[in-house]
Amino acid sequence: MTKKNVLLINPWIYDFAAYDLWMKPWGLLKISSILKNDGHKVFLLDAMDRHHPLLDMPASDHEDGTGKFISVEVEKPIQLSRIPRKYKRYGLPVGIFIKALPDADIDIVLVSSVMTYWYPGVAEAIKIAREKYKNAMIVLGGVYATLCEKHAIEHSGADLVIGNSSLDRLSSLLGQRGAFGYGSILAEKIDYGLYEGTAYGVLRLSLGCPYDCGYCAQRSLGPGFMVKDMDKALIEIKYLYASGKKIFAFYDDALLFDTVYFKEYFRRIADEGIIARFYTPNGLHARYIAPDVADDLKRAGFADPIISLETIKDNALWHEKVTRSEFIKAVENLRKAGYAQGEYSAYLLLGVPGGSLSDVREAVEFVHSLGARISLSEYSPLPGTALGKAVDPKIISEPLLHNNSVFPTFDMSDWDKVNELKSLARSLNSSLKK
Ligand code: SF4
Repeated sequence: MTKKNVLLINPWIYDFAAYDLWMKPWGLLKISSILKNDGHKVFLLDAMDRHHPLLDMPASDHEDGTGKFISVEVEKPIQLSRIPRKYKRYGLPVGIFIKALPDADIDIVLVSSVMTYWYPGVAEAIKIAREKYKNAMIVLGGVYATLCEKHAIEHSGADLVIGNSSLDRLSSLLGQRGAFGYGSILAEKIDYGLYEGTAYGVLRLSLGCPYDCGYCAQRSLGPGFMVKDMDKALIEIKYLYASGKKIFAFYDDALLFDTVYFKEYFRRIADEGIIARFYTPNGLHARYIAPDVADDLKRAGFADPIISLETIKDNALWHEKVTRSEFIKAVENLRKAGYAQGEYSAYLLLGVPGGSLSDVREAVEFVHSLGARISLSEYSPLPGTALGKAVDPKIISEPLLHNNSVFPTFDMSDWDKVNELKSLARSLNSSLKK
């Protein structure tokens, strides 16, 4: 089949808050490599690239490579009008985005999507691409496309919406058989050529997770648990390291689940002489932080390991991945491995249906008492999850209301109490030396 000109777009974020916590369009960057390997001409435009060469002001980075996105306040959609916060578009100014579109005869535009409630950015990118590339086929994939397929078909403006489990449909469009299955995408080396100015690299050693927490959509998004071929995993980190990246964020949902693989990977990295700092934005399972694993985390250079605790109520509907006692044990092991108090964190979940603010307060105090920093994540009700089923269908059918800043399950009368909890967490965190 003739080779195509393909434009890959990572669109804007529309939200009340956004910060570049090692955020890169991992799936799109894998697809970029696959397409290039097959001889297609690939262009990539990442609206969330803080170091885009067309930006006048170089982005400033925090020492861990993270940083603020450029943003501009935009009008709130009617569904969000009651929220007393500024609503913004994060990412490249629209004028720069348009200027950065390649002057080429594009055959196919592939647009990625992440949070369901960021879909206004998806629709805007598609509208702009449609105006410039009148004959191109526009295809939408990613999380929003997978979890809200019907909504995306009706509202995104794409010609074709492809959920994660149907990514193979790209094969017929591009004349590649079987190149876009989960296994192929995981195995492929990431295309990071666009990000010379970015201090960090992103990695995944596995896809999926063996658990099925009530608030998590990973079962709808992935294949179940699978690991990357070890040699390919090493080739990928060596490529990123050779390009100057010394900070890495793992996107794995269950990084420690295959402990044998994890230990072997870091042993071989050490043999290669790779000295880097590693972050785990998706959180770690306490259950697998055994003494030897905690030692490996410390030795390998994991900074601020985050344990996913979510709640201290051992409530099976939420999750079965961690108990209070497993969390205590994991913290003990981290401490013995050399992490001081304030050098590790715990995720707690706020706003889950059936959970109370007093439970969250208790969890905040418990986590602090063990010397962990508190990272409060707000619940987002997602289609296809056990807890999402209990949420008003009107909320589920409007992705804007999945926004975790909106607290759809809280009364507005809880707003002040939620803010109090957040400031309690901040002040407890600042009392811990880091
Ligand atoms: S352990 Fe994490 S990734 Fe796995 S199902 Fe639960 S929340 Fe999702």
